[in-house]
Amino acid sequence: MTTIEWTDTTWNPTTGCDRISPGCDHCYALPLAKRLKGMEQARGTNHPKYQNDGDPRTSGPGFGLTTHPDTLDEPTHWRTPRMVFVNSMSDLFHARVPATFITDVWRTMHATPQHTYQVLTKRPERLARVLDQVHAALGLTEPLPNVWLGTSIESDDYTRRANALRQAPAAVRFVSAEPLLGPLPSLDTTGIDWVILGGESGPGARPLELDWVRDVIGQCRTTGAAPFVKQLGTVWARSNGAPDKKGGKPEAWPADLRVREYPATA
Ligand code: SF4
Repeated sequence: MTTIEWTDTTWNPTTGCDRISPGCDHCYALPLAKRLKGMEQARGTNHPKYQNDGDPRTSGPGFGLTTHPDTLDEPTHWRTPRMVFVNSMSDLFHARVPATFITDVWRTMHATPQHTYQVLTKRPERLARVLDQVHAALGLTEPLPNVWLGTSIESDDYTRRANALRQAPAAVRFVSAEPLLGPLPSLDTTGIDWVILGGESGPGARPLELDWVRDVIGQCRTTGAAPFVKQLGTVWARSNGAPDKKGGKPEAWPADLRVREYPATA
């Protein structure tokens, strides 16, 4: 997962994951987990977060899906309100995260209304299935107002994830089209509050065509979703002499792409 630029804090009640689509090809969490595992071993400590290895075909060293019940109460210790990105090192709706554990995560978010939580998944079908169970277990009749639910969509093959997200009751729904790897002509932003767009960054980054971004902004204009262009990516930055490696400085972009809006509730 990729953290959103204006989150204050990340909270990882689970770590580890398995790649499921081309947007995962350069998952930053996967090699980071390997490094963290190695660092902890070199120090002679045993960091419980990164000692389980995942399937080498889809995951890797230190990146086996693991739940961390000891981290569930972390947000209760943060007194000042924070924007919290849930699971920068995992996907909460991975098939191996028990529904009871997801319920525990929701219990913490319910108990800490001072914080706003952003939960981003590439598995919104499971999110939609499990959420009713979670709400029933906690006696919730409405979605938590402080929880934003999002899904990543990297190409037109995955716009069905937006359909699944629409099935989930949520105060705010968002789509993260980052890394955007192709045009999204099938994307329907009806019922979506916020759409984040970004080109890929880092080694091996794939190119972004600016018209893909323009088309999604146009789609947002027809449904009232708020578009937020985060970065144009490494390939664009390199070929346009951008001042930073990610192409994340709006002042260097074509004027019509300098669009950074937030959902109305924000
Ligand atoms: S779903 Fe997210 S955390 Fe999991 S492998 Fe893909 S990019 Fe990484």
